[in-house]
Amino acid sequence: MSADVIDGKAFAGRVREKVAAHVAQMKADHNITPGLAVVLVGEDPASQVYVRSKGKQTVEAGMNSYEHKLDADTSEEVLLAMIDKLNADPAVHGILVQLPLPSHLDEDLVINRIAPEKDVDGFHISNVGLLGTGQKSMVPCTPLGCLLMLRDYHGSLSGMNAVVIGRSNIVGKPMAQLLLNDSCTVTIAHSRTKNLADVVRGADIVVAAVGRPEMVPGDWIKKGASVIDVGINRIEGEGGKTKLVGDVDYESCASVAGAITPVPGGVGPMTIACLLANTVTACCRINGLPESEDFSS
Ligand code: NAD
Repeated sequence: MSADVIDGKAFAGRVREKVAAHVAQMKADHNITPGLAVVLVGEDPASQVYVRSKGKQTVEAGMNSYEHKLDADTSEEVLLAMIDKLNADPAVHGILVQLPLPSHLDEDLVINRIAPEKDVDGFHISNVGLLGTGQKSMVPCTPLGCLLMLRDYHGSLSGMNAVVIGRSNIVGKPMAQLLLNDSCTVTIAHSRTKNLADVVRGADIVVAAVGRPEMVPGDWIKKGASVIDVGINRIEGEGGKTKLVGDVDYESCASVAGAITPVPGGVGPMTIACLLANTVTACCRINGLPESEDFSS
């Protein structure tokens, strides 16, 4: 194995420390405590785990966490009214509605009801437009985490060829946009892409966000490329135990790549760290305070 392992867990720990330091400073200098409201509709087990973890880490960073749990059959009207209330609440600087929502609720309508300046997930259409035009916006947490790790490893990304596999609104598209904003030459590959192996072979940076276990083999990777594995897939491992794997075949890719993120311990921890960072950024913007350069896009 030759690749440098990009330790997302350690990196996320450093981001959380910077967030906590910034929060302490805001409290001391301005008597302001950033607050994050998380809304969970229904009882999806994975979502419950994420929401608990987000709440815990928010409090550990010195911020206020407000959890709102609604029944799975909550009407759109009730959910929208709750968002309106959070939009108007001066103690709340970030609002996150945990996805996926139950199928009777219109996700676009719900997300676009969040005040853009409190949209710490960066999914509101205004933030998507701002990011797409290279303006200051709230940036989706998972792609932001990937970008921060790539910048930390490479310094400048200017002129690099980047291939993003996956075109979802929450990962693939914003990831491609961030890389473009950092002057990469970007290709977005997806389920209809022809000759995917050849497309990936031209990349200095590969970001895999597909949701297919170990789909990218090492012989698709250019020697020395950086591989960022966003995928989180549960497969059956030895002895019938569930095992977490990414979208890239770690062993074979690590033997040719220059750098690679592991699963678990790569992109995953960075996502929540960036959510905390976005909440601080939102709080700074709402209150007209200087932002931290450390976790901006
Ligand atoms: P998605 O299902 O919305 O999108 C998957 C994308 O992959 C689609 O755009 C599709 O075109 C593309 N695709 C599917 N099959 C393909 C193929 N054979 N070849 C090329 N492209 C193909 O998924 P998503 O929400 O973007 O998530 C992707 C993965 O990232 C999942 O495993 C998810 O669990 C994981 N994820 C991880 C984090 C994290 O914090 N680490 C956050 C979000 C998502």
